[in-house]
Amino acid sequence: MSRDHVPTLEEFVDGVDKRNPGQPEFIQAVKEVAASVLDYIKDHPKYHEHQILERMAEPDRVVSFRVCWQDDQGNVRVNRGYRVQNNNAIGPYKGGIRFHPSVNQGILKFLAFEQTFKNALTGLPMGGGKGGSNFNPKGKSDAEIMRFCQAFMTELYRHVGEDTDVPAGDIGVGGREIGYMFGQFKRITNRYVGVLTGKGMEYGGSPIRTEATGYGAVYFLQDMLKHVGKSPEGHVAIVSGSGNVAQHAVEKLLQLGAKPVTLSDSDGFIYDKNGIDEEKLAFVKELKNKRRGRIEEYARKFGAEFHGDAARPWRVPGTLAVPCATQNEITADDAKMMLDNGIIAVSEGANMPTELEAVHRFQQARILFAPGKAANAGGVGVSGLEMSQNSARITWKEDELQRLLRDIMQGIHDRCVKYGGETGGKDKYVDYVKGANVAGFVKVAD
Ligand code: GLU
Repeated sequence: MSRDHVPTLEEFVDGVDKRNPGQPEFIQAVKEVAASVLDYIKDHPKYHEHQILERMAEPDRVVSFRVCWQDDQGNVRVNRGYRVQNNNAIGPYKGGIRFHPSVNQGILKFLAFEQTFKNALTGLPMGGGKGGSNFNPKGKSDAEIMRFCQAFMTELYRHVGEDTDVPAGDIGVGGREIGYMFGQFKRITNRYVGVLTGKGMEYGGSPIRTEATGYGAVYFLQDMLKHVGKSPEGHVAIVSGSGNVAQHAVEKLLQLGAKPVTLSDSDGFIYDKNGIDEEKLAFVKELKNKRRGRIEEYARKFGAEFHGDAARPWRVPGTLAVPCATQNEITADDAKMMLDNGIIAVSEGANMPTELEAVHRFQQARILFAPGKAANAGGVGVSGLEMSQNSARITWKEDELQRLLRDIMQGIHDRCVKYGGETGGKDKYVDYVKGANVAGFVKVAD
């Protein structure tokens, strides 16, 4: 691409597609960012002179490796592992590790690309990366999980470090997995450093890291509503997922007086017309985090509806939505249904849960729509604070972290309004997609 001519969106995406064939999620993420940023670049040509967007849309490197581990029957099993190091212009590569059968290089490249913008938005000095494996943790014993995590780190350790690349959790990787990986890193290198975040409190973790992503997504929702003179109180909220992010989104929704009515997993979703309260949420935490059970059990226990066949909850009437499961779970048809049901705000707890066409529908309807790279940045934000605490070999108090998380989310909202707010619009409309993309881009580009 020439430095004298700002490419059209089609030219730009075509170039990325040719270099990265067969990676639809990566192209989708790049396209969404490029649509906002190319417009901005046209008015700010200094960013094009050095072709910075082209450079950001190509990972610095992708490490791909074999992971061999032994199952409980004594068989050797083989998986593929990856670490995508997208960009370290403003700090060490930083981003989670995902264990899920859908993981492939294209999905991790989309996530690492998004992470670069998200991490920039937090205001902390962190670059973007992502890793994972197509390993399926579902149905595996604790000993199998341990052996897989150790085998994964046996290769990964040579690519990461507290000032190089600092992974954390993502889908399929929680406190247990981080513990096994951290132990293996320490065993191999004989170094006790903050190479992973999301660690247990006993060995260098940070207060509220577990809560941060879900809480942050609801804080962002609260800030969007506040900007137009509203609040979450009294609203019915549709939540997808039932893991860490969804659980803490529900917890914060309840604290703010909203009524969450759904949760989901890969089998389907539950719809509790009476609302998910504190007590029912405690059951979900025990079910999912300790027993690793299925959400259908909630329906049996509390007499709620269960919809199987991997159905998603978007048909349920509600005015707020917090998707906390995985990518591309809200289609254009879902968006239409949600709009017909009177949705006023969507805050993405997951990464890219809304298909592009569905995002366009929300934007056309001018509802409040927060993309994941802004709304779910609270998790990596507190990870950044965990890195600081590890470097200083200190643990800050919980109320201090609660305050810092609130500040980080407020700061991201302000940045989105700065770059995505319409000047003079009567309804105070903010294009949060544009705001997040341009604000993240400007920070890294500068
Ligand atoms: N996986 C989370 C995310 O998507 C957290 C990453 C981190 O804490 O490094 O942002």
